[in-house]
Amino acid sequence: MDTLPTDFVATLEDHFDREVVGAVLRGLDEPPSISVRLNQNKPSDRFNTERRVPWSDRGRLLEKRPSFSLDPLLHAGAYYVQDSSSMVIEYLLNQLSFKGGGILALDLCAAPGGKSIILSDFLEERGYLIANEVDQKRNAVLTENLLKWGSAHHAITRLSASKLGEFESVFDLVLIDAPCSGEGMFRKDAFALEQWNLDLVAQCTNTQSQILNDIDSAIRPGGYVVYSTCTMNIQENERQVKHMLELGYELVAIDMPEFAHYLIPAFYENEKLGWYLLPGISSGEGLFVAVLQKKSDASFSPSGGGFELLEFESQMEIPEGIFNYHWTKKEVQYGTLDCFGLLNRLPQQMAFKSVGLPAFEMKGDRQIPKHGLAMSNQFNIDIELSEKQALDYLRCQSINMDTSNLPSWCIVGFEGIPLGWVKAVPNRLNNHYPKSYKLRQQ
Ligand code: SAM
Repeated sequence: MDTLPTDFVATLEDHFDREVVGAVLRGLDEPPSISVRLNQNKPSDRFNTERRVPWSDRGRLLEKRPSFSLDPLLHAGAYYVQDSSSMVIEYLLNQLSFKGGGILALDLCAAPGGKSIILSDFLEERGYLIANEVDQKRNAVLTENLLKWGSAHHAITRLSASKLGEFESVFDLVLIDAPCSGEGMFRKDAFALEQWNLDLVAQCTNTQSQILNDIDSAIRPGGYVVYSTCTMNIQENERQVKHMLELGYELVAIDMPEFAHYLIPAFYENEKLGWYLLPGISSGEGLFVAVLQKKSDASFSPSGGGFELLEFESQMEIPEGIFNYHWTKKEVQYGTLDCFGLLNRLPQQMAFKSVGLPAFEMKGDRQIPKHGLAMSNQFNIDIELSEKQALDYLRCQSINMDTSNLPSWCIVGFEGIPLGWVKAVPNRLNNHYPKSYKLRQQ
């Protein structure tokens, strides 16, 4: 790796004891780790027998980096390439206790979506996720990743923290994976190393404090905040947690003795404010995480904001219970699953980018199936493709075959997992894989 900035090494030395600094500096000289999160709803053999991430049932540590983009199962959403440190969020979420009635969660800084996927798994049958990302291009990546993951209990927004802060006391859980100086990613991301300097740390610190101030009012009393960054400095981490304590939050004590040798507790002014997962000590890249709860004296029930969805209706036979409501944008009908009516807490004019999965496109009176319906993994595969055919399909090519016994709309799949729709015409399958997701790598 290129030489580390001297200011970075100095801050690290001021922050941690010598042993830790030594381990981190040695760790930063090693190749980055590679890990994946397996999709519980799309079980496959891929990576299943690899070493488990200690704090995540579905996390797997890989010995070497395969060619992910040439694996059809990546595009099918069977797994997501994710740093093992991030997966600690799953462990922390599982330690929190929520009252009944469903959990309305917000992932405030969500793209590209790794932690939204963790939240989505956690919220299955428990709640609903609003995944928010302000940056337009990154928002599109978030949308693609959540769509391929295939769960319908999420909506996507592109709102500032201050706009979201206008919704009073609505969220039971907010994940703030804040924009940061990226120190924890030095091994993986050359740009993070190139752009790092103390001014960037100061700038990120201001942004983080502003985000915390802005979002505070949207968190209900008794609601939880998980705050994380991929940095290792006090300003972006311990000081932000202190700031939240001043705003009226308290620390949530979570013990993780079984992982003690992977974690460095973040002590500051004699208080344990969170944890560090550090390169050279943990299995993955650098991450800080803290869990807080908004103080509350009385029991609290959120008031309704009035957002309403219409019941889901389909001309095609689709499995019971995959969606209960629909939302439309232009000609596209989205299907979503909001079992607890949690979206009702938001205002009717809520500016969503999408609500649930794109299920159908309306062509006159006809419903044409959309990719989200295939990705929901609720349909049997009509045609199992070979690896070559699957890659051709992902490259948006049509497939020649005898189609005489096929229905007109079919799902093609690879190793038992759906890849998407095709339309059967005589001796050919016309490709309906979304052009925007086309595989370009040969
Ligand atoms: N949580 C994501 C994941 O696990 O895949 C990574 C999030 S990344 C660390 C931080 C995100 O915050 C970026 O996508 C960035 O566009 C967004 N962001 C930047 N400035 C922001 C701001 N002022 N308010 C909210 N989000 C912001």
